[in-house]
Amino acid sequence: TGTLYLVPTPIGNLGDFSPRAVQILQDADLIAAEDTRNTQKLLNHYDITTHQISFHEHNTQSRIPVLLADLQQGKTIAQVSDAGMPAISDPGQELVAACVAAHIPVVALPGPNAGLTALIASGLVTQPFAFIGFLPRKAQEQERFLSQYAALPMTTIYYESPQRIAKTLDRFATVVGPDRPIVVARELTKKFESYIRGTVAQVQEFIKAKAPKGEMVILLGPPAPAAESVAWSQEAVLAALRDRVV
Ligand code: SAM
Repeated sequence: TGTLYLVPTPIGNLGDFSPRAVQILQDADLIAAEDTRNTQKLLNHYDITTHQISFHEHNTQSRIPVLLADLQQGKTIAQVSDAGMPAISDPGQELVAACVAAHIPVVALPGPNAGLTALIASGLVTQPFAFIGFLPRKAQEQERFLSQYAALPMTTIYYESPQRIAKTLDRFATVVGPDRPIVVARELTKKFESYIRGTVAQVQEFIKAKAPKGEMVILLGPPAPAAESVAWSQEAVLAALRDRVV
């Protein structure tokens, strides 16, 4: 059988695209891309001529059998999303699960990812952490959603768009109060990369005053006790999760 390669692409800075990623895309029989036009620009830059097929959230179910058939015939497929790691708030996870079930080898390349990049420079506790991803859009659902995760004794990582950031921070304030440490990481790896660090109230105020644009990651620090680097047992984490997820 063939192999599925998961290939991360830059989240802003082309210099982060690894030589190995270029090689894998070049050598693959097929590239499964979230947006083929977007990926074509990247391919052109490296003179990569590999054929592309679209693979996104709206055709995942119909594409998986097609890709599996190719893989079973021995083809090498490289999957990419528009930016960062496939399968992280992007298509990929279901395809990987299908490959695992079909005993097709899956190889992931390390590479750009907005959440982890923001985490290690945030100044917040880096272990344990939980990656949550996008929040629901409706205010009420957001509150319910957030209250599931905000009490966990760990840093939690969210993705958000600049259009919704102010309202989302209001929701964080409602759920965790004004004093919790929080960081908003903007435009990572790009020219105007910046970190807004402070309490929920401080960051809220800054965002309201400046209305910053660009892509953003929100990192919420843990509630006070875990900030003193308490060693949380797996049991404690699970117990906290159980209390929250009803
Ligand atoms: N797969 C990607 C990854 O590995 O990070 C995430 C894709 S998700 C559709 C896009 C979201 O990731 C954006 O809304 C933003 O929250 C975050 N993001 C992507 N690039 C970013 C950057 N350069 N700076 C800050 N956040 C970024």
